[in-house]
Amino acid sequence: MKTRRLMTGVALLSSAALVLAACGGDADDTGATDAGAGAEESMEGGAADFAEGTTMAELAEAGTIRIGTKFDQPGFGLANLDGVPEGFDVEIANIIADELGIPEDGREYVETPSAIREEVLINDEVDLVAATYTINDERAERIDFAGPYYVAGQALMVREEDAETITAPEDLSDTAIRVCSVDGSTPSENIREYLGSEDQLTLFADYSACADSLGNNQVDVVTTDNVILLGLVDASEGAFTLVGEAFTEEPYGIGVQNEDVEFCQFINDTLEAANEDGRYLEAWDSTAGGIAGAEAPEFPELTPCE
Ligand code: GLU
Repeated sequence: MKTRRLMTGVALLSSAALVLAACGGDADDTGATDAGAGAEESMEGGAADFAEGTTMAELAEAGTIRIGTKFDQPGFGLANLDGVPEGFDVEIANIIADELGIPEDGREYVETPSAIREEVLINDEVDLVAATYTINDERAERIDFAGPYYVAGQALMVREEDAETITAPEDLSDTAIRVCSVDGSTPSENIREYLGSEDQLTLFADYSACADSLGNNQVDVVTTDNVILLGLVDASEGAFTLVGEAFTEEPYGIGVQNEDVEFCQFINDTLEAANEDGRYLEAWDSTAGGIAGAEAPEFPELTPCE
């Protein structure tokens, strides 16, 4: 497989790491891959299985797919020591790639921060986006969503010592409380109605930057989806905690190019089949399911593709 990191202007300024990395999983001369028996067994696809001219036929024929995902979110998409992302979103994308018959060395994982998820699809830089990506009307005007395959909810994360004083979004009307979220995310918009002043809000390109700032006392609250925060709490070794209840619904979809109804339908059918045969829960258990406090999801009702 390969990995590539796409970054926003903000991230480029704050990070020297614009990495084009190819790693691991190379095919040998026989065409076999190190994808593992599980992946090979569940592979179904082949260009011949799909109607000519569809995205599925094109991808199957090429034997490659570009997957936009996160690289810094424990449990959903977190780069391992080789730079390859691991997590529930990655596994869901892998199930789709399996179904297309794309071998592991044909899967390119492209780092896709929240703010550029529509853009990378519109610019044809990726074939799909699986990146804790909330389905909403504004986004659906520019791209299409398959799914949802999971429903999260927005929550607040604070330093352990502040858990008694900051307990709900209503507490953020105190203008002394500094809040961090991510540019281009739904939580960064949803939180505004609770703030005493716009100046309280700092937006970074990714949630790991917010977590660093929380640890450094530069902000007091990080807000995004509960499952993302649970991963950051887990990684904080007791420094951070979640407070209160989730206060929004964030249904996660797979982003595809606008009006690609056939590919959307193929992904919905694949998700449905993966739920029925256990691959969906297996993907959860081996990733986000390992995070303390993360409950096994009930497979949500899929939205028809149109
Ligand atoms: N699910 C929310 C969104 O799509 C927040 C998580 C994220 O930024 O990836 O905006």
